[in-house]
Amino acid sequence: MEFIETRGNDGVKAQSISFSEAILAPSASFGGLYVPTSLPLLDETFINKHLNSSYKKLALDFLVGFGIDIDSSILQEALNRYDAFDKSDKPVELSQIEEDCFVSELYHGPTRAFKDMALQPFGYILSQLAQKRNENYLIMAATSGDTGPATLETFKNQANVKVVCLYPEGGTSDVQRLQMVTEAGSNLKVIGVKGNFDDTQNALKSLLASKDFKEELDSKNMKLSAANSVNFGRIIFQIIYHIYSYLELLRSKKIQLNEKIYLVVPSGNFGNALGAYYAKKAGLPIEKILIASNVNNILTDWITNGSYDLTARELIKTNSPAMDILKSSNVERILFDKFGANRTKELMETLEKYGKYQLEPSEIASLQEDFDASFSDDSECVATIGEYAQKGYIMDPHTATCIKSYKNLRDKKLTTVLYSTAEWTKFSPVVAKALGKDIAHDSEALEYIATQTHLEVPPMIKALLHKEIIHDTVVEKEGIAQEMLRFL
Ligand SMILES: *Cc1c(COP(=O)(O)O)cnc(C)c1O
Repeated sequence: MEFIETRGNDGVKAQSISFSEAILAPSASFGGLYVPTSLPLLDETFINKHLNSSYKKLALDFLVGFGIDIDSSILQEALNRYDAFDKSDKPVELSQIEEDCFVSELYHGPTRAFKDMALQPFGYILSQLAQKRNENYLIMAATSGDTGPATLETFKNQANVKVVCLYPEGGTSDVQRLQMVTEAGSNLKVIGVKGNFDDTQNALKSLLASKDFKEELDSKNMKLSAANSVNFGRIIFQIIYHIYSYLELLRSKKIQLNEKIYLVVPSGNFGNALGAYYAKKAGLPIEKILIASNVNNILTDWITNGSYDLTARELIKTNSPAMDILKSSNVERILFDKFGANRTKELMETLEKYGKYQLEPSEIASLQEDFDASFSDDSECVATIGEYAQKGYIMDPHTATCIKSYKNLRDKKLTTVLYSTAEWTKFSPVVAKALGKDIAHDSEALEYIATQTHLEVPPMIKALLHKEIIHDTVVEKEGIAQEMLRFL
């Protein structure tokens, strides 16, 4: 299996590369991304074969079918990371919330958000590749919440990889901050930055672009990679749980073989939704992928009228911060898949130059064959959490954005899977509010929710509140470079 580039080839980089090359060095020609040249077939035979497979068995067969250049023993070890999830044989659990609607819970891993589904196995593979090649990698992440903890967790004490994680001081939830600043590991560095998420991300971008910094990395014999969803090493693991969710519905006889279903995906960088798109394209019987957003609803515009326009928008902080994104990176992979490299390059360059682009009517029609979209504001989400709490199901604010898409966007009465991307424990003050009480701090909100419901705060979250703070560095934006160099 070869990987090619979404904006075409610049004549300097190789025309096509292997999976391991694409995950070690994920930036492609002209600022594009790597994409696979084909997908394994997810037809009736594949589905039948896996009716009784465990998650890991399904995943291994899918990955081997993908023809990636990673030894199956390494893949197996990577998938063994799922053993540490709540139920070792079931990293993903499905809960029924309506007659025809099931929540596929992707948050049962160590950091209680769906980032673990891909980052756990991905982290193991990246470190193994680095060791084999005798190379050292630096992963830098600017995070507003969930990517940081999941990246630190997967790479801690892994050989040949160092991680620096930058977070905006005061810009994350208590639990998210504690998950980062209490994470031990000699290869990890966490730095709080005085400023908001944009400041933090911009500081990181200018550091990455600076010549001095590159020379410093070269002199230390370190290469840069990335752990966000521009890296296909994450996307590949995000196809599997869509297949698994379909299989779970089949196994519990909620659907029949070949019956089509809707998927509802709460989206930010569109990695989760892209995984669903690839699953549909590979043959999984998916009627449509319904995209849910918060008020940063640029994806709703893109899918419903073909306009991608940053100029009229400013990022708005919401109760679902992991979806507070305007430049959604994996949209580019959809553009490439549907319209080819030339058109993708043209559209992405137009976006960079003018801050917006507009798709043609035929292109919009093509998008709408696979997607539909809607959004919810914070008060709708709080009301939704409250409504389902009454019926006995507690969901987080990201998951709650899905309900409106489920209720309004289905043209057919088909069984629906909606994805829960975070546990309620990560956003407990919002959930407490939905249950009727304003509480500012996570520790009190967690306790309140636990006493109001049948739920327990999981041990890793409880432990956080008493763990020793290891990373207490907080710097001004200007101080980031110096702090990083000291660590390296
Ligand atoms: C990352 C994240 C999302 C968005 O997922 P994308 O793949 O970036 O679209 C949604 N919800 C939560 C809780 C997340 O952490």
